[in-house]
Amino acid sequence: MKESWSTKVREKTEKHPCYCDTAHKYVRMHIPVAPKCNIQCNYCNRKYDCLNESRPGVTSEILTPENALEKYKAVKAKLENLMVVGIAGPGDALANFPETQKSIELIKAIDPQVTFCLSTNGLMLSEYAEEIVKWGVSHLTVTINSIDPIIAAKIYSTVVYKNKIYTGEAAGTLLIEKQLTGLKLVTEMGIVCKVNIVMIKGINDHHIEAVVKKVKDLGAFMTNIMPLIPAAGSKFENLDLVSKVELNNLRKKCAIDLKQMYHCRQCRADAIGVLGEDISIDFRKNCCNASW
Ligand code: SF4
Ligand code: SF4
Repeated sequence: MKESWSTKVREKTEKHPCYCDTAHKYVRMHIPVAPKCNIQCNYCNRKYDCLNESRPGVTSEILTPENALEKYKAVKAKLENLMVVGIAGPGDALANFPETQKSIELIKAIDPQVTFCLSTNGLMLSEYAEEIVKWGVSHLTVTINSIDPIIAAKIYSTVVYKNKIYTGEAAGTLLIEKQLTGLKLVTEMGIVCKVNIVMIKGINDHHIEAVVKKVKDLGAFMTNIMPLIPAAGSKFENLDLVSKVELNNLRKKCAIDLKQMYHCRQCRADAIGVLGEDISIDFRKNCCNASW
């Protein structure tokens, strides 16, 4: 890893509001260019048309890469502290490879300094690792909810890989193998990786410490243990929720091994603004309205 890349990534990390506790004044913008997904998590039910909900996977629109560029320009003109462009769904950034790549290329062409950040379930991470580095992506989030195929089989109903559908423990085994291989590869290439873990009561809550230890060994920078948000219509709709106390107790235990994120807002796939104070920008009218 070249020293100049490490220095650049360190500076970018200090201005990334999700990775640095003191970077809250900086703006991140999610561009919802990635609608498809290659796995099915039992807690996910993506809705594209809901302005009242704030959680991952929700967006009010899907943008083409060209529209994402126009929106980027509009946001940049309004918010001078814009530092990070993230692709966080509403599906998986790497299951929409052409759109993700094109969006990054277009924005990078007019602003080479912006920080690019991707979120993925990790299924395609090892395959695209070199491309991601070439694009200049410096920060990446992989969601890894289990490193045990038996537990994973309770969390994921299907994994689709190379046109084949996997279910049950075979799905879990494949996904975990791809996630862990991909994570190791990209951290070795100098990408700063956060691992998201959804804490699901009675399913993986007892296993999360083991996940944290494993991803630490593979070079993860931090973990972000998040409470399950039960989406209406998903298989986990009626599961019990974890309390804030349970969540923070687990985070504190895991902090012995690895840096923990305590300030995640579980943002929408089209979130724009400083964390917790998202705004809505209609790039077609070039106007800016606070809506949440
Ligand atoms: Fe939904 Fe993300 Fe899971 Fe895909 S990886 S099913 S988009 S939560
Ligand atoms: Fe950052 Fe969490 Fe929002 Fe992602 S969901 S942009 S990690 S605060």
